[in-house]
Amino acid sequence: MTKTFRHPALTALALAASILPIAAQAQDKPAPISESEVRAHIATLASDAFEGRGPGSAGETKTLDYLAKTWASYGLVSGTNDAAHPWFQPVPLVERKPYAQAVSASVRGKPLKLAEDGVALSGRNPTDRVTGEPLFVGFGVNLQGKVYADVKGRIVLMLADEPVIEGGVKLPTSRERQKLLAGAGAVAVLVVPPPGAPWGGMRSQIATGSMRLASDDIGAPIGGLVRGDVADTLLRTARLSVLDAQLRAANLDFAPVTLPVMLDLATSTQVRAFESHNVIGKIPGAKPGSGAVLLLGHWDHFGICRSEEAEDRICNGAVDNASGMAVLLTVAERLARGAQMDRDVYFMGTTAEERGLLGAYYFADNPVVPLKDIVVALNVDTVAIAPAGAPVALVGRGENGLDEIVDKIATGMGRKVDTDKEANAFIRRQDGWALGAKGVKSIMAGGSFSDMALLQAFLTTVYHQPDDELTDKVPLGGATDDANLHVELARYFADTAKYTPAPTGD
Ligand SMILES: [Zn+2]
Repeated sequence: MTKTFRHPALTALALAASILPIAAQAQDKPAPISESEVRAHIATLASDAFEGRGPGSAGETKTLDYLAKTWASYGLVSGTNDAAHPWFQPVPLVERKPYAQAVSASVRGKPLKLAEDGVALSGRNPTDRVTGEPLFVGFGVNLQGKVYADVKGRIVLMLADEPVIEGGVKLPTSRERQKLLAGAGAVAVLVVPPPGAPWGGMRSQIATGSMRLASDDIGAPIGGLVRGDVADTLLRTARLSVLDAQLRAANLDFAPVTLPVMLDLATSTQVRAFESHNVIGKIPGAKPGSGAVLLLGHWDHFGICRSEEAEDRICNGAVDNASGMAVLLTVAERLARGAQMDRDVYFMGTTAEERGLLGAYYFADNPVVPLKDIVVALNVDTVAIAPAGAPVALVGRGENGLDEIVDKIATGMGRKVDTDKEANAFIRRQDGWALGAKGVKSIMAGGSFSDMALLQAFLTTVYHQPDDELTDKVPLGGATDDANLHVELARYFADTAKYTPAPTGD
């Protein structure tokens, strides 16, 4: 089960890259980044040769190689600050893909028919099997966020809803509650999605499999989803329905209910432990110890994402997020070529963002510089959405006291600013969240998140599909604007005379 995936090519590359001379030479203001520069990087990263940049695939090796070599060619040095792992920070992951399941149920010895397509399971081990009467636990935890039922050895049925409770109390997320139940000894955690949740999409997500950080690999032997009608069939054995169950669960201290139905669940799962990598480069500053600016974006996408029969099997991720990496490459080139900045400026491509911000979470737990020294983290994700001239929106507006600075820099460059907080709807869906959760001032600034109609048009069509490819229709004007904006943002935040971070109070 613990097959380790290695990248032999990376060690050689790291050596080659680390001995390149620093090419940073002060020059007059370089010309603005052009659309063709951005396009060239997207074309490479989103080409079929890169196989959709799946973590742990041959596409990862190519992607990391391209990013590190390109950055090194501009004069960046390794940013891992770890001589044993130059350029590439290993990120241990575990991937699971279920490929078979069996579900049966009986009440007092008589079979109870459950709609077969209404249950989607995944096991933790290559094969898992559990039997028993399920325990309905409502939302799984009480107001203090603690598991209140004795779930040891039990199959539990939990509601995924994230109810907002009086007094502003928020329960842990569904995913966190599943982990808590597993940690408390449940052998299977079955989740009922909120009413109206798209079952087809959720089921195919289970089929696609899961990826986790090895350091956060907590789960019951069997996990899965139970569609509302199937949950109703199970709950009816205790004279309940999903609706009553929701009402009861709203009283968070309700007594859990054992459902008098014998469930037999079995799964077969492909399990793979492997190492992926964050790639990290650095432009050393003139004033060591004065803090660091971090620019980041995720290099990964979904790889070969369709079965052999499909005409197009590769999820190329041109917009998501070859476009963001193209910005990080062009920005690094301009900054490395310009006058030396005071602070170190780090550039990071994270892995496995698409699987839950995993590379970013790993970095937040294992930062290359203390997190308190990072004066700002600028994330760049999905930037080829808007045409040139789009207003600058901010994911993270109102969250960290940087709005005014960004707005001023943007307007100084002739751009409009979008000051509503609509873009914050995406705050949890991007790598900056993993850093922001640990107190790093983290923002995502750019044109993509200002025009929600354009963004939705992308999200509801090619997003996460094989059709996210570089075509003439992909607008690169906004991405190019954002690249130029990030040159100025990085320069500003790296300048100790211009920017002193406000004390965070710790
Ligand atoms: Zn994505």
